[in-house]
Amino acid sequence: MTERYYDKGIAPKLTLGCPHCRAGARFESLYGNLPLPVMLADGKNGTKLSWAGRLSCLVCGLNRTHEVDWPREAFYQVAYRGEILWAFDRAMMVDTLAYLTAGADRDAVRRNSPYATRLLRLPKTFLAAKARETLAAKIEALLARG
Ligand SMILES: [Zn+2]
Repeated sequence: MTERYYDKGIAPKLTLGCPHCRAGARFESLYGNLPLPVMLADGKNGTKLSWAGRLSCLVCGLNRTHEVDWPREAFYQVAYRGEILWAFDRAMMVDTLAYLTAGADRDAVRRNSPYATRLLRLPKTFLAAKARETLAAKIEALLARG
């Protein structure tokens, strides 16, 4: 698995695959701008982690509370060699594509992205030269969907 992605939690606003129609649906945490998961008191002197938020889909009209199963539900995800390359939303996947396909200026491309620290933690599998063409094709096909 790609646990390094989780170091600083997950963004509270995400694009998830709609459980009804598979389109990209908007998710917003119930806890404002705190990264997910949020630690809550469990009412028994302990704590529990919550991924709760509101999921809304403009395509099918779905609108309900939802517990995120991340990264399984990420709309912007591609599989490569048994690992999942995911992004919070379209903007992050666009920046990921630019980073992966950059040449000698890769570090500059990364630093100019608002997702720079996330891009820095991409697993090496995705950054290998031999991965570039396959991943770029998969990401471009995904971005063409929505
Ligand atoms: Zn939907």
